[in-house]
Amino acid sequence: MLAGPTAVGKGTVSQYIRANYPDVLLSISATTRPPRPGEVDGQHYYFVSDAEFDRMIADHEFLEWATVHNAYRYGTPRPPIERALAAGRSVLLEIDLQGARSVRAAMPEALLVFLLPPSWEELVRRLVGRGTESPVEQARRLETAKVELQAQDEFDVKVVNRDVGQAAHEVVELLEVP
Ligand code: 5GP
Repeated sequence: MLAGPTAVGKGTVSQYIRANYPDVLLSISATTRPPRPGEVDGQHYYFVSDAEFDRMIADHEFLEWATVHNAYRYGTPRPPIERALAAGRSVLLEIDLQGARSVRAAMPEALLVFLLPPSWEELVRRLVGRGTESPVEQARRLETAKVELQAQDEFDVKVVNRDVGQAAHEVVELLEVP
C-alpha cells in the first residue's frame, strides 16, 4: 500500500509503476471527486455519483472506503484485488491514512509504504504548483498532510520521492515482483 501526504506524488509514482511494471496490479479506486484535467475515468479513478457510491457500499463492493480531506469519498473495489491475489500477483493500493489502517486490519500481511517529500517546503511548492485546488482546498489538504506526516512511524517502510523513477523502483523492489 502506498500512502503519503497530499501532492507528495503518490499518483505520479503509481501511474509510473502502472506504465513500467505490468506485473503489478494498480488498484483503481472509486471516488465522488470530480476529475481533474487530464484524468481519465477507469484509469486514474472510477468517477462515480454519490448515489452510485452509496450503492457500492450497500453491495459490499469496497475493501475499505473513507471520506478524505472532509470532502469527497474514496473506496477500494474488492473484486479485482481478490482475483489478482488469488492469481499470485502483487497489488498496489494508493490510499490515504485511514484506508491504510483499515486494510492493515483486514490484511495484516500487507506492506505499508509511506511516500515522503524531500521537505515540507517542497510539498507546499508541489501542491501550489499543481494549481488544481482552490486556496481553501489547498489549506485543507495541508492540514491533513500534517496529521499524515505525524503517522509515518506506523508504516513499514518510508520512501523519499525526489525522483519519480527512483521512488517507483524502490516501491516495486519492496513488492518482490518476480
Ligand atoms: P486525490 O483527490 O488527490 O486524488 O486523492 C486524495 C486522497 O485520497 C489521497 O490521499 C489518496 O491517497 C486518497 N485515496 C485515493 N483512493 C483511495 C481509496 O480507495 N481509499 C482511501 N481510503 N483513500 C484513497
